[in-house]
Amino acid sequence: PSQRREIERGLREGTVRAVVATNALELGVDIGELTACVMVGYPGSVASTWQQAGRAGRRAGASLAILITSSSPLDQYIVTHPRYFFGRPVEEALLDPDNPAILADHVACAAFELPFEAGEGFGRLADVDDLLDLLTEGGAVHRSNGRYTWVGEGYPAGAVGLRTSTPDAVVIQDVSTEPPQVIGQVDRPSAPMLVYPGAVYLHEGASYLVEELNWEAGIARVRAEEVEFYTRASATTEVRVVETVHRRAAGPWATGWGAVEVTTRVTGYRQIRRYTHEVLGWGEVDLPEQRMETVGVWLDLSEDLVDRLQEERVLRSVVDYGPNWPAQRDAARARDGYRCRYCGAPEREGRQHDVHHIVPFHAFGYIPGVNDLYRLANALDNLITLCPVCHRRAERARGARSALSGLAYLLRHLAPLQILCAPGDLGTAVEARAPETGLPRVTFYDRAPGGAGLSPRLFELFEPLLEAALDRVRTCPCADGCPGCVGPVGEQEAGTKERTRRLLEAMGG
Ligand SMILES: [Zn+2]
Ligand SMILES: [Zn+2]
Ligand SMILES: [Zn+2]
Repeated sequence: PSQRREIERGLREGTVRAVVATNALELGVDIGELTACVMVGYPGSVASTWQQAGRAGRRAGASLAILITSSSPLDQYIVTHPRYFFGRPVEEALLDPDNPAILADHVACAAFELPFEAGEGFGRLADVDDLLDLLTEGGAVHRSNGRYTWVGEGYPAGAVGLRTSTPDAVVIQDVSTEPPQVIGQVDRPSAPMLVYPGAVYLHEGASYLVEELNWEAGIARVRAEEVEFYTRASATTEVRVVETVHRRAAGPWATGWGAVEVTTRVTGYRQIRRYTHEVLGWGEVDLPEQRMETVGVWLDLSEDLVDRLQEERVLRSVVDYGPNWPAQRDAARARDGYRCRYCGAPEREGRQHDVHHIVPFHAFGYIPGVNDLYRLANALDNLITLCPVCHRRAERARGARSALSGLAYLLRHLAPLQILCAPGDLGTAVEARAPETGLPRVTFYDRAPGGAGLSPRLFELFEPLLEAALDRVRTCPCADGCPGCVGPVGEQEAGTKERTRRLLEAMGG
């Protein structure tokens, strides 16, 4: 804080000529006679952009604001659609004040200011006695004579973060110093993805290896260590719809929103070399699965649309299976007695059964003329014989994924065009077969437990979001996917960009 005041004074007096800062300088401070402002990356909202640009030229006549956009879909959309930015009112902030997690904090702060009478209303709610009773049990509030009085320690508003509404955090403790030192914290829902044992945690340019994550105590113990890699967690996310509040069908697709339960489990991680991004190794993670109740908005493709897209091979990829494929295919059929391994149906005259890869072929990374990884993919252990009906079912469970994951990436990153949020405020789950419908589904959910009001707004604004997504994938100059449209090459299957475009076009009409 003292350094900050010094910089502010220097700016006012003209002894400091330039300052490099995070968005901390965006709000509230008067930093005097700046003539130019360079923003690195779109700040995420029209409101923030004007705020930051307005830091320059507070007193002088003319000033200059420069926006350098990153490669994210949102930044690329903004830079190719300047009219969108200049023609748009600032976004409204979204926070669901009736979310129990947020409400509990608000009630605690209110009780600190003035005692509550039993049955007293709060905001839109007739009474908050249940919450006050809960706070009473926790010892923060005392009830006597029908009146709730704050008796807790400290100042409750100090514990409420204004930027995020997640109540609980995991503290990161560096045990390589004596005594151990707290060097940071992450919110609890993100902890399994960021500070699992074996993870590399970066802090002020130094790298730390996570030794232990004590889930109950909310402490991650880390040790300073110079390593040449970073880590990335792999997780499975399942979303179950608990209650549908609204549903709307738009011909080839339908969308709905409501309460969802999100189950995430971090299963392992990869060590990836810095700069070259090659995979150096991997490890397993054994952490309890995380369950969270929140609100979500989901997109269902209709059966007609799925059939059409499968015919057009948008939801299935055409791949070069390598030179030994015909021989391995015949060997698999012979091994299985020319019968479908799922339903037992024998082959019919003139129509051979299909042979299916259990682990998807593309997952092996075969590049014709470069490596011979097709041998691993086509090993007999990885092949099963399926009749056309069962094969279609198996492919539907998977083939949809590449176009759907491209779509999910685009929509999540473009959501801030419609609602005030960061792409990281939304989680996504892609299912090739949703349990309720047996058809492909993409779900977006509020990552704040209980919901922050993002999903219901997204539900209302789905059409313009789909239009922006189609525009982005059509105008992106890359060959086959990049961070600015459907996601980086290498993380997505080849052909994802083309398939995502055709999926979006088919959804449009
Ligand atoms: Zn079958
Ligand atoms: Zn197959
Ligand atoms: Zn691209």
